[in-house]
Amino acid sequence: MSKAPPGIKLLWIRGKGKIDFKRPKTHLGLGLRGAGKSSLLESVACRYPKVIDLFGSRDNEGLAWLRSKLYSKNEILLLTGDSVEVGGPWDVQPVSKITVKDLEPYRNSLSVSAFYSNINEEFWALNELILKTLWRRASWREPWYVMIREAANFIYSRIRITKNQTIAKADFIHVYREARHLGYPIGVDTVRWTSIDKEIRDLSDYTYIKRVGVLGLPKDLSWIYSMVDPDSLMNPGPSLFILVCSTGPVALGKFEYPAWHKREKENILKAVGLEGCIQYGELPEHLQKAERSHQVGPIEHTQIIERYLECKNMKVVAADLKRSSGTVHTHIANHNREIRANGHCSRCRRMSSPLEAQILEIGR
Ligand SMILES: [Zn+2]
Repeated sequence: MSKAPPGIKLLWIRGKGKIDFKRPKTHLGLGLRGAGKSSLLESVACRYPKVIDLFGSRDNEGLAWLRSKLYSKNEILLLTGDSVEVGGPWDVQPVSKITVKDLEPYRNSLSVSAFYSNINEEFWALNELILKTLWRRASWREPWYVMIREAANFIYSRIRITKNQTIAKADFIHVYREARHLGYPIGVDTVRWTSIDKEIRDLSDYTYIKRVGVLGLPKDLSWIYSMVDPDSLMNPGPSLFILVCSTGPVALGKFEYPAWHKREKENILKAVGLEGCIQYGELPEHLQKAERSHQVGPIEHTQIIERYLECKNMKVVAADLKRSSGTVHTHIANHNREIRANGHCSRCRRMSSPLEAQILEIGR
C-alpha cells in the first residue's frame, strides 16, 4: 500500500534541469501507440496537488485512478453527463453543474467516455468544463494538472461546436498555451493531428520521448540523435524515456510503472467495480434536438474507421459510438469503396486522418 507516487529517475546528459511540479508547465508525451506514454504521464500527473483527467479514448483508461492507492475514495470526483447516473462509493457530479469551487475538495476529478450516453454528450460537457468552468478560475494558489489524453478528441469536440477545423485546432493550441496563466499545468498524451504536432511540441516545457519506432524522431527533434543512439530509441524498454526541457537540458529517464494503470485489453469497468453501476437515462433536451438532426459527419466517420482498425469488431464500434452496427458497416464499406475508386476517402481526408488511404478488412 504505497502512498508515494511511482519513482521517476533522471540522468542529465546535457545541462542540468528538473521537472518543476510547482508551476503550471506543459508536458507532452511523444512516441508510438502502446509505448507507455500514458502511464508515464500519469506518473507525472500524480505529483501535482490535483489532477483533472479528461478526453480519454473509448477504453476508459482514466478509471484506473480509482484503484490507485494515492487517492482515498473521498478524494476522487467522478464527472458525468446529465443523462447518466453512476453508483458506487465515489462522489459524482454532472459536469453541467460543476464550478471551480466544487472541484477544490478533490485531488482527482475524472471523466471517462462511459460516463456519457454518447459522444455528443461527452464532447459538449467537456467543452463546457474546459472553456467555461475551468476558464473562470480567477486566481490560484496551487497548480491543477489537466490531463488531455487524446488531443484529437478535444479538437473533434471543438469542430462539433465551431464547425471549422482551423478554428478548432487554434482553440486547442490556445488552451495549451494559455492555461498556465490560470494555474493549470497540462499533459497531453497523444496528438494524432499531424498539422499541429510541431506547434504543440514547440509549446511544450517538457517533452517525454518514448519508443519512436522505425519512423524515428520528427525532424525538429533529430538533434537528439547526436546524444542518443538512434537504434536504442527505436525500441527501448517500456520504463525508459528521454526528457527534453524547452530550456535546453536533456535527460535519460527511467520510471516505475504505476501499479494502478490500465492493462491492455483489461475490462477496467469491471476491475474497479463499476460494471453494472452506470445507468443511462434521457439526454437533456438541447442534446436530443442535436441528436435528431444528427447524421454521421466526417468527425464521427473517422472515429468509426479508427476504432474499427483497433478492435476489428463492428458490434464493439457500434456500442462504443452508440450507433447501429448497420451504420458502422455502411461507413466502413463506403470508406473502402472510395479508396478503391479514388485512392483516398474524402471524409477521412477532410479530417486529415492518417487512415485516408487505408482499406479495412471487413470481418464478422
Ligand atoms: Zn474514411
